[in-house]
Amino acid sequence: MTIKTAICIVGGGITGLTTALILKKLGFTVCIINKTGSAKELMSDGLFYAVSPASIKLLTECGLEKEILALGEDVVKMEIHSNDSTLNLDCKGTNEKILAKIVNHKKLQALLEKKVSQNDGIKKLDGFCEEITYEPKDDICRIKFRSKEKRTKNFLETKLLVIADGSNSHCRQKLQIPWGLKNYHQKAVVAKFNSRLAPCIARQWFFKDEVLALLPISHGKVSMVWSQDERKAERLLESQGALIEDGLVEILGRNIASKLELDSIPMAAPLTMISVGRYTQSRVILLGDAAHTVHPLAGLGLNMGFFDIIAFSRELESFKELSSVSFDPGHPKVLKAYSRNRSFRIRTTQALIDTIKYSFAIDRPSVNFFRSYGVNFVNHSDFLKRKIVNFATSEF
Ligand SMILES: Cc1cc2nc3c(=O)[nH]c(=O)nc-3n(C[C@H](O)[C@H](O)[C@H](O)COP(=O)(O)OP(=O)(O)OC[C@H]3O[C@@H](n4cnc5c(N)ncnc54)[C@H](O)[C@@H]3O)c2cc1C
Repeated sequence: MTIKTAICIVGGGITGLTTALILKKLGFTVCIINKTGSAKELMSDGLFYAVSPASIKLLTECGLEKEILALGEDVVKMEIHSNDSTLNLDCKGTNEKILAKIVNHKKLQALLEKKVSQNDGIKKLDGFCEEITYEPKDDICRIKFRSKEKRTKNFLETKLLVIADGSNSHCRQKLQIPWGLKNYHQKAVVAKFNSRLAPCIARQWFFKDEVLALLPISHGKVSMVWSQDERKAERLLESQGALIEDGLVEILGRNIASKLELDSIPMAAPLTMISVGRYTQSRVILLGDAAHTVHPLAGLGLNMGFFDIIAFSRELESFKELSSVSFDPGHPKVLKAYSRNRSFRIRTTQALIDTIKYSFAIDRPSVNFFRSYGVNFVNHSDFLKRKIVNFATSEF
């Protein structure tokens, strides 16, 4: 049997599910093919994201306004520490009430899955998408996929294939989309802590080539994301938390470290930056981690996936207004506009995050002096701080 759908999304992670809800809202029939049991699913309970106001607006458009308001912890202030200087950011003088919302991966995923299951116009199929043969002449993509349990082969025809199957994208490889990977040789160690620190404040420390973030996840609890050398991270995990306390004292100082008590088994994820040669090809677009990954120092990975969705839905809407009811979502003009819109922004953001990572990693007295001077200078300029907050809370 061959399933026919206007849009097929491979990957039912947060990016894939949000895309499905938005595209259904625009009037398209949508089918999601997802395989379960990914490595991220296993650590999803301990993964927390800083979701920006622009991304919250997108989730609200998915019909999740009340749920998102009730989910997670608001961040109203951010402290960025480097050597002996601190940059304090808040929403003063901007149109935003919060800098971000700290949301748990598992809870957000569950919320989106529930919304998708309640939506009759979205079909969700379990399976591994193993083969993609697309024939642009027929204006359709043909997809073969295998269900993990039944091992049966299924066929699907679609006008647009959305690849959202994560950083190790199988579809990207099958379609021979060129991609590159920069290995930071670092791992992000993630853990939850009971905390006596003031609530609603996100804190980040740059320490040599390490970055440690404490995100408020609920009253009296914070989530730590600590990017560090991969061997050091492995030793830290092997010690089952025993080495964490000493590490925290070294970076945060005894006063702050003494207010934290480990409340979960630490986990670690390798850190890489993935870039692709193109974001679209005939009847295909790439979204989310399949199209880009970044170092977590700016908390932007998932947000960039949300910005892909915003950009694509905007292009679709503007073309839809111009054409008839039988609008084609994989029309070359739509894909070209999306690619033009995202290419520059994604590459610039990746370059910016990479530059921040390396410029904070240099540990030399003269560099430390100028960096501290720069951080203090920005901290005393309301104008520059407003610019940073406006940039960080908008879509880019
Ligand atoms: C430690 C850490 C901290 C982070 N912190 C932040 C943060 O603070 N803020 C932020 O914005 N981002 C953060 N990120 C990034 C964020 O986790 C990712 O950007 C986001 O989860 C990507 O979502 P996705 O849906 O694109 O991919 P994924 O979550 O990887 O989803 C892909 C889906 O596709 C499925 N799939 C894969 N292959 C196939 C196939 N062949 N057929 C069918 N289905 C398939 C998988 O099973 C999975 O369900 C962090 C990441 C890490 C590792």
